[in-house]
Amino acid sequence: FTNGFDAIDYFRDHVVDVVLLDETMPGITGLETLAKMKEVNQSLPIVLITKNETENLMDEAIGSQISDYLIKPVSPVVLGAKIKAMQRLLDMRKTLVETTQKLDSANQELQRLSALDGLTGIPNRRRFDETVQIEWRRNARVASPLALAMIDVDCFKPYNDHYGHLAGDDCLRQIATAMQNALKRPGDMLARYGGEEFVAILPSTPLSGGLLIAQNLRDSVRQLGLLHEYSGEEKIVTVSIGVAAITPDYVATPALLIAAADEMLYKAKTSGRDQVQRSEEHTSELQS
Ligand code: GH3
Ligand code: MG
Ligand code: MG
Repeated sequence: FTNGFDAIDYFRDHVVDVVLLDETMPGITGLETLAKMKEVNQSLPIVLITKNETENLMDEAIGSQISDYLIKPVSPVVLGAKIKAMQRLLDMRKTLVETTQKLDSANQELQRLSALDGLTGIPNRRRFDETVQIEWRRNARVASPLALAMIDVDCFKPYNDHYGHLAGDDCLRQIATAMQNALKRPGDMLARYGGEEFVAILPSTPLSGGLLIAQNLRDSVRQLGLLHEYSGEEKIVTVSIGVAAITPDYVATPALLIAAADEMLYKAKTSGRDQVQRSEEHTSELQS
């Protein structure tokens, strides 16, 4: 280009690898042109070409992040060498960007995997612990109820004893998938709480809604119709569920809600299993 303005115009909508820039140009100086280009692309290699090596100009140019400079008259050999050096710089930068991107996506994948349960592929206990804290605070902010369902597979020890541990694992996978599919809202989350226990977090859900969803979870497992000769009269795999709901505040913690759901799970077990029990309406902190 014969002047800086045209170069800047071209630069705005073209990909440029390296710029050789004369300091003395009509209209706008090389350093002014450079400043405009750097606004668009911080890491662009720019070689400044000057008539004489005045120290002031060099100082300014290096401050403006030029990659290198050449003194006129420029020998073709030196110019060729500089362009090669700039090309290497560019290649290194590209490799660095690609490596960083790969590292970023590897980290994301690692983070995703570390939040999932290895056996069932649903969120694990750690993810549950994080999510329940987040949902507790979020529901406190908007003063809406948070429901929680604690789920435990019935008579699972005899299932393992009679069908074997591998069949037990497969059974847990099927239960997890069925229950996860039974949750419809994007905010709902099913996690493996541990062993043969699962937990569902249901944001913005009152006890009545929590009860309904818990019934769906129970039905989804029953509908699998997994043979279990050592459980109940129907001889299929079933779950017991305890449900509680609470509108969180900033004083209490999710432990309150977990304990309430746990208590109801215990009640479901002692009342004959294969059922849902919900916390009492009249309990002061727990609400319908
Ligand atoms: P209840 O109806 O009272 O819940 O009886 P239960 O037999 O299910 O209860 P218990 O807690 O005594 O037994 C749970 C069993 O679940 C113990 C263990 O054999 C089995 N279990 C826990 N985690 C796993 C797992 O990851 N894979 C398999 N295959 N079995 C597991
Ligand atoms: Mg258990
Ligand atoms: Mg059990």
